Amino acid sequence: MEIKYQSTRSNAEAVTASQAILKGLADDGGLFVPTDIPKLDVSLEKIAEMDYQQTAYQVMKQFLTDFTEEELKNCIRCAYDDKFDTKEIAPLVEKAGVYYLELFHGSTIAFKDMALSILPHLMTTSARKNHIENQIVILTATSGDTGKAALAGFADVAGTSIIVFYPKNGVSAIQERQMVTQKGSNTSVVGITGNFDDAQSGVKAMFNNKELAAVMDQKGYQFSSANSINIGRLVPQVVYYVYSYTRLLKAGAVKNGEAVNFVVPTGNFGNILAAFYAKNMGVPVGKLICASNDNKVLYDFFETGVYDKNREFILTSSPSMDILISSNLERLIYRIAGEDAKATKAMMEALAGEGKYEITDAMKEQMKDFVGGWASEEKAAAEIKRVYDATGYVMDTHTAVASAVYQSYKERTGDNTKTVIASTASPYKFATSVMAAIDPKYSGEDDFVLIDELEKTSGVKIPNAVEEIRSAAVLHDTVCETADMQKTVENILGL
Ligand SMILES: *Cc1c(COP(=O)(O)O)cnc(C)c1O
Repeated sequence: MEIKYQSTRSNAEAVTASQAILKGLADDGGLFVPTDIPKLDVSLEKIAEMDYQQTAYQVMKQFLTDFTEEELKNCIRCAYDDKFDTKEIAPLVEKAGVYYLELFHGSTIAFKDMALSILPHLMTTSARKNHIENQIVILTATSGDTGKAALAGFADVAGTSIIVFYPKNGVSAIQERQMVTQKGSNTSVVGITGNFDDAQSGVKAMFNNKELAAVMDQKGYQFSSANSINIGRLVPQVVYYVYSYTRLLKAGAVKNGEAVNFVVPTGNFGNILAAFYAKNMGVPVGKLICASNDNKVLYDFFETGVYDKNREFILTSSPSMDILISSNLERLIYRIAGEDAKATKAMMEALAGEGKYEITDAMKEQMKDFVGGWASEEKAAAEIKRVYDATGYVMDTHTAVASAVYQSYKERTGDNTKTVIASTASPYKFATSVMAAIDPKYSGEDDFVLIDELEKTSGVKIPNAVEEIRSAAVLHDTVCETADMQKTVENILGL
């Protein structure tokens, strides 16, 4: 079956997967969604015998139907290789009866590597397939982790260049150092004076600017996106949900057909949406538990059906979840609205205008797969300590939010379904917050100073990604006002 990609905001003609990957965002400002969520055509027992790369092929071929077998297998081979520090790619670790799906074994030690190590290959293959001659300019807003993973993926990839905007005061010291030391003649990194939502809105505005697109085209450039609005990000993320279920099957931890819950620390709603797609492909999923930090706009939405971003933006120790405009929620809204583009558009316009929209009761009925939860800074820190004291396992601040939300969900509901927690970053990325949670004497220390302490505490070797930036030279130091983002892009490209 051929899968095409449709905008969430109009019934304009659907495009192929490769065209959707190249464009990033639909012309009308909507997000591309598959015309159907395809089913797996091999059994989960069969997939249990496959490795990560083979699983990736079985999942991705269902979505990227205009890629040939050779093209797709080549992309997968180039992505999931020894850039990852384990052959399993995404190991499933059991601690005290809960499964942690470690998605941080790639080159930048956050889950963004799972998709961003393959996106450049999907992008250049798509460009070839569609006879694109312009240079593809990847324009990206980051809350900390996407930026580095995208830079690492696109650095020195022929036919592309990449510009990353990050909130100057909204990322961890290690996240910032990772980005500003990025090598590659086609990379640019810019700090902005605003927060992540400002960065994301600025980037979206450039995507939607038709005059800018025309000027760029004249000079031989066109934009695409490495953010999770790109379906080339979303599709590779479905893979590890299928993979983790089949690892449980293989280990005899679940019987075929037995449901599993997934808990996902959520920001832009991309990771958990991929879990929802996996469920719709045929993976037996019980609840999808959406975990938020103090920026609990999604929790409130699941409780009340009202999405309201009019609230204080809180900087937390889980910065990759500090988001009030969860872009990918639009894809769920479109689906539960019965694929009604007009209704979706109206709600997104209300969000852009009043900062708020409400869904209907009928739509609420369709969200039963999801449960919202949130954990405060104190709760998440206490969870790091609790699990460390009980098991010796050290988790990062984002995973801790999910783990804390899961503990209170279980207490509240008594639901004993086997549960997988998406573990989205290495604790090394947030060394100070993690060490201070374990022992308050470390609070306020420098991330880099605590790296050796963390190694002693966790017994996990310092990852290469951290070693290599300790002494690396700063190569990017541009900072701009939020309002000047477009001017900065024009300067970089010489428009
Ligand atoms: C990006 C990120 C998240 C949030 O994922 P979304 O797909 O935006 O919901 C959570 N944790 C970490 C460490 C991340 O980098």
